[in-house]
Amino acid sequence: MFALEKMGELDLKHINCSMRLLEWGKSLRIAVLALPFVAVSLSTAVLAQQLPAHVHGVARLELIAQGTELSVSLLSPLDNWVGFEHAPRNAAQKAAIEKAKSDIATKELIAFNPEALCKLKRAEFEPGLPKTHSHKGDVHAESEASWEFHCEQPDLLKELRLPLFKAYPRFAKIQAAAADADGQSAGTLTAKSPTLRLP
Ligand SMILES: [Zn+2]
Repeated sequence: MFALEKMGELDLKHINCSMRLLEWGKSLRIAVLALPFVAVSLSTAVLAQQLPAHVHGVARLELIAQGTELSVSLLSPLDNWVGFEHAPRNAAQKAAIEKAKSDIATKELIAFNPEALCKLKRAEFEPGLPKTHSHKGDVHAESEASWEFHCEQPDLLKELRLPLFKAYPRFAKIQAAAADADGQSAGTLTAKSPTLRLP
């Protein structure tokens, strides 16, 4: 982890943002590596504002659009998806994790304005279950969901909407940040205000 908020130089900002993004899963990694240097990246200010604490109900979303390709990553306490953060102890808990995995790949949890003609290409879910058993009772799991979309009309892409709040009401607040060739935008999304204007 870099001390992002302390980085001052423009070049360093871009390097560090890209590197930070590299930690965020395969799909994003591919997207970022495909970018020319200093292309689409989030500013340190946006990222600093987004730096995570593990708070149930809260999650962090990042969107990166590059031409027709669009990546979304959602880092969230596993609790927001399934209501627990330990290895599944029974069939119902196993099923809950499988359901989240399946919903992420098949349900419209992340949506865009229809004019952009975005289609889901790929989705992944890593529940982030702790690898070791703990008796201390303070076990948490940080999950990552990621999506890749192809948008036929990227110039018409105006907003991101999260039907996720309805499907998974344990999500109370999502700190969202987006970057594309036009710039960046960020906001806090909730069930009552589930839409982010894109740059
Ligand atoms: Zn937790």
